[in-house]
Amino acid sequence: MPQLSEPQPTDIIVFGGTGDLAMRKLLPALNLCDRDNGLAGDTRIIAVSRDGLDDADYRAKAESAIREHPASRGAGTPVPTQGRFLSRLHHISLDVGEDDPGWEALAAMLAGREERSRVFYLAVPPMIFGRICRGLSTAGLVTGTSRVVLEKPLGRDLPSAGAINDEVGEIFDEAQIFRIDHYLGKETVQNLLVLRFANMFLEPVWNSRWVDHVQITAAETVGVGGRRDYYDGSGALRDMVQNHLLQLLCLIAMEPPASFGREAVRDEKVKVLQALRPLRGNEVAARTARGQYTAGRVDGTEVPGYLDEPGGNGPSSTETFVALQAEVANWRWGGVPFYLRTGKRLARHGTEIVVRFRDVPHPIFPGQSVDPVSAPNQMVIRLQPEETIHLHMLAKKPGAGELELRPAPLQLSFAETFAERSPDAYERLIMDVLAGNPTLFMRRDEVEAAWRWIDPIIGVWDASGPAPEPYPAGSAGPAGADSLIGRTSRTWHEEELPR
Ligand code: NAP
Repeated sequence: MPQLSEPQPTDIIVFGGTGDLAMRKLLPALNLCDRDNGLAGDTRIIAVSRDGLDDADYRAKAESAIREHPASRGAGTPVPTQGRFLSRLHHISLDVGEDDPGWEALAAMLAGREERSRVFYLAVPPMIFGRICRGLSTAGLVTGTSRVVLEKPLGRDLPSAGAINDEVGEIFDEAQIFRIDHYLGKETVQNLLVLRFANMFLEPVWNSRWVDHVQITAAETVGVGGRRDYYDGSGALRDMVQNHLLQLLCLIAMEPPASFGREAVRDEKVKVLQALRPLRGNEVAARTARGQYTAGRVDGTEVPGYLDEPGGNGPSSTETFVALQAEVANWRWGGVPFYLRTGKRLARHGTEIVVRFRDVPHPIFPGQSVDPVSAPNQMVIRLQPEETIHLHMLAKKPGAGELELRPAPLQLSFAETFAERSPDAYERLIMDVLAGNPTLFMRRDEVEAAWRWIDPIIGVWDASGPAPEPYPAGSAGPAGADSLIGRTSRTWHEEELPR
């Protein structure tokens, strides 16, 4: 992993400091960073929102949020907030959309600390990114060492992503812009890079000659909750595939970078996105399946269908599930299907990558060819709920009778193998921002290359595509997803995941 420089005293200004993301993820992660001495000297965290809180109110709100949301499972028992952390917190009331006196209050708070690094974390809807950046510039708050962190969604198509990037790019250089995809902060994802590029044994088999296909699944049991109005403008393809799933695909498919340098890794990732074979016209119907959940039972509880979720407004053709078949059209991967799928209100919760190897060319053991589909060689890299890597192989069942083969996994559980605590994804990424290391953040060309591939699919869906197929909440998704992968006589990896 990239070497981090020593943390420097920094002013971290969180726009949207009272929002769900700040309360559930950022503050608990920052609290853990501080406990582990990752926040140097008199580093301050200045929350900005329109809420008229004073510092004491905000500290009380933060303390209870941290108690409620321990940053990482690996942290074990909730980590209490320390007085040192709470004393770092401040709140400024500011409506960034207006010519608000809050800008002066923010400027006064930062005055005289120009030599310290500044991190502007935009945990707000992207439609106000531009106004915030211009406001910061007008108030003279952007220094040469300032950084800006952008949360998803970065647009809803290529033009809107370009517009956001342009607005932010008017004020900040690309090297100062950190676009977060929190999947890249997960330990297993970084381990995937180490697995591939610090070991020799995988490289010879990591190509179309040995790999039959790859599956990337991000399954959620939750629905859209009260956010149907937001989700109606998004859908599973934009919300999950354009960013998280394509980023995972990049890490699986990329060529070895020449170094673990900030640009070398991202250069290789963007080449994968550029090599994705476009899906156009009839191919979209043949290579994608989309669905929308109806009422059902999840974890023993009755839940409403998508159309009955609060916040909605009548019928909707927004997909809450999508499966698709992609191809990385280059020498290493030509002809190897990459199946991606993600959905809400599914029977299980988990994110995993399955690299399925080809079958042996000729079976010599009795029974070896009995069930090649259920016992293939495959590497299963699980990102959540637990972080594990399993290598599935066949072994001989002990016994003196007729030789019998049985699947036998080699298992690596990070929690069991390493005594060290796994940092939460946000904790890791915030530390990288503080250290000025952008390797695990998305560059502008990556985001735009991903949209360039996604946009034509949405275009066909909008113009003529079939409506999303209903699937009951608590199921494995719509039947169309099985038909999609079944067309090539393959099946989804449905190993039971622990809840
Ligand atoms: P949220 O709960 O609605 O919070 C939005 C925050 O922005 C609040 O603190 C709000 O404070 C502030 N805000 C909104 N308009 C403002 C304005 N004009 N001036 C100043 N502050 C303003 O939203 P969220 O869930 O935290 O999400 C924030 C962003 O992160 C969204 O773009 C979301 O898509 C993205 N994101 C969220 C998550 C998550 O887990 N929640 C995950 C990934 C990405 P006031 O209303 O008090 O002003």
